[in-house]
Amino acid sequence: MHHRHLYIDGAWTTSTSRTDIDVIEPATEKVIGSAPGGTPEDVDTAVYAARRAFTGWAGTPARHRAAYLRTVADGIERRGPELAELITREVGTPIGFARMAQVGLAALAFRTAAEVGESYPYEQHQAPSLLIREPFGVVGAITPWNYPLYQVAAKAAYALAAGNTVVLKPSELAPLSVFALTGIIDEAGLPAGVFNLVSGVGAVVGQALAAHPDVDFLSFTGSTEVGKTVSRAAAGTVKRVGLELGGKSPAVLLPDAEVSEVVPRAVAAAFLNNGQTCCALTRLVVPRARKEEVERAAARAAGAMRVGDPLLPATQLGPLVSAGQRDRVRRHIQRAQGQGATLITGGAEPLQDLPHGYYVRPTVLSDVTTAMDAQHEEIFGPVLVIECYDDEDEAVTLANATPYGLAAAVWSADPDRALAVARRIQAGQVEINGGGFNPRAPFGGYKQSGNGREHGVLGLEEFLEVKAVQL
Ligand code: NDP
Repeated sequence: MHHRHLYIDGAWTTSTSRTDIDVIEPATEKVIGSAPGGTPEDVDTAVYAARRAFTGWAGTPARHRAAYLRTVADGIERRGPELAELITREVGTPIGFARMAQVGLAALAFRTAAEVGESYPYEQHQAPSLLIREPFGVVGAITPWNYPLYQVAAKAAYALAAGNTVVLKPSELAPLSVFALTGIIDEAGLPAGVFNLVSGVGAVVGQALAAHPDVDFLSFTGSTEVGKTVSRAAAGTVKRVGLELGGKSPAVLLPDAEVSEVVPRAVAAAFLNNGQTCCALTRLVVPRARKEEVERAAARAAGAMRVGDPLLPATQLGPLVSAGQRDRVRRHIQRAQGQGATLITGGAEPLQDLPHGYYVRPTVLSDVTTAMDAQHEEIFGPVLVIECYDDEDEAVTLANATPYGLAAAVWSADPDRALAVARRIQAGQVEINGGGFNPRAPFGGYKQSGNGREHGVLGLEEFLEVKAVQL
């Protein structure tokens, strides 16, 4: 799993830097692989390859582009078990969830992008104009480590379906599965230069992509802080920037909701992928009168979680991705307690029976108020906070009381009442009573959670420029 080459212009290519970045397995703290630390010169080479390939790819019929994407989806599915194990080892995702979400959703995104891309009406008459939607050109994509394949799929599959060419920089923490995906893309036979991979450090490769004058669209998923840096780097060229950023999403439990049914599901949702999910519902907003009941149910559900080796099928909570992330999450827990939050279960202490690996106890904090950092700062670990309200207006105010607006949930015995509350929540996706997953539903943020939408028709349109021809 030591990768020595970047993928540029349809070939595995030596980086100009010759330095490698180690990949550490969070469960064992051992090096399991490495990837080249690319340079701005590598970015130049990749961008020019993508530029040369653009006209041909944009002129390829949408149904032919879709056929390539389906071949990639087939390849992901064929190599599913291997990819899931790879992601479990580089990210720490429990293996069962890795198979279903990390790999299954990535394949589904390629398939859905193919369907959406081949059936989209690229030309529409709006008398006296003809509206033509066409690809931007070269898309620079920067992705995070938490869902390494799925985040790449959300960008690359849709950008390619729309007729753009792509230069991708994956996270330095979890590039191995992306190298495997690139092998699958290579085998699918996409024309040279249509898809390019330049691994490396964000401040070097990501920065070069964001600032590059020949990148027409920069699509970024990651933290809000880095999203702002990337926007500043891109501003000099006035390129379009799509931002998919952090979250601090609320689950609002209305007074008529069934606590014993809802709370275990809410805890499980908060701790998906070890709490490292951008849209994780990490704040439980509950009626004050139900506080003790909710605390007891949350303590039971979190305390019962099986923490340990993510490769074991029974594991529900694995390690965090890195030592830095583990330490940051523990500091958050301690700071919250210092600011007056009540520890219901878990805490910042190490787990005695897991001496190796970046584990954090599944933690629930209560009596959390808007004055505390844990109420509005993204923690990105297995930490659920409980906030109390006295009436529905206050529930909505609390739900909206963060700089973020990525996702939310509302639980109620009365779906109409839940929908009325959902309408008042500032978030890009709101699920009611557990909702169903929709791979075509647009995903993206309000406020500082971002400015774009991924997946489905809107996810395709994100990568299309509009031209009005007056007839
Ligand atoms: P980061 O913001 O740290 O990194 C994201 C990507 O940006 C990485 O590839 C990183 O490179 C790169 N990067 C870092 N610095 C720069 C820079 N100066 N210029 C250009 N690129 C740079 O996020 P994480 O990887 O830690 O991911 C977690 C975050 O992502 C959370 O905030 C989470 O909420 C968010 N996220 C949002 C999603 C959404 O759809 N809204 C989905 C998934 C995650 P490298 O790390 O390799 O150095």
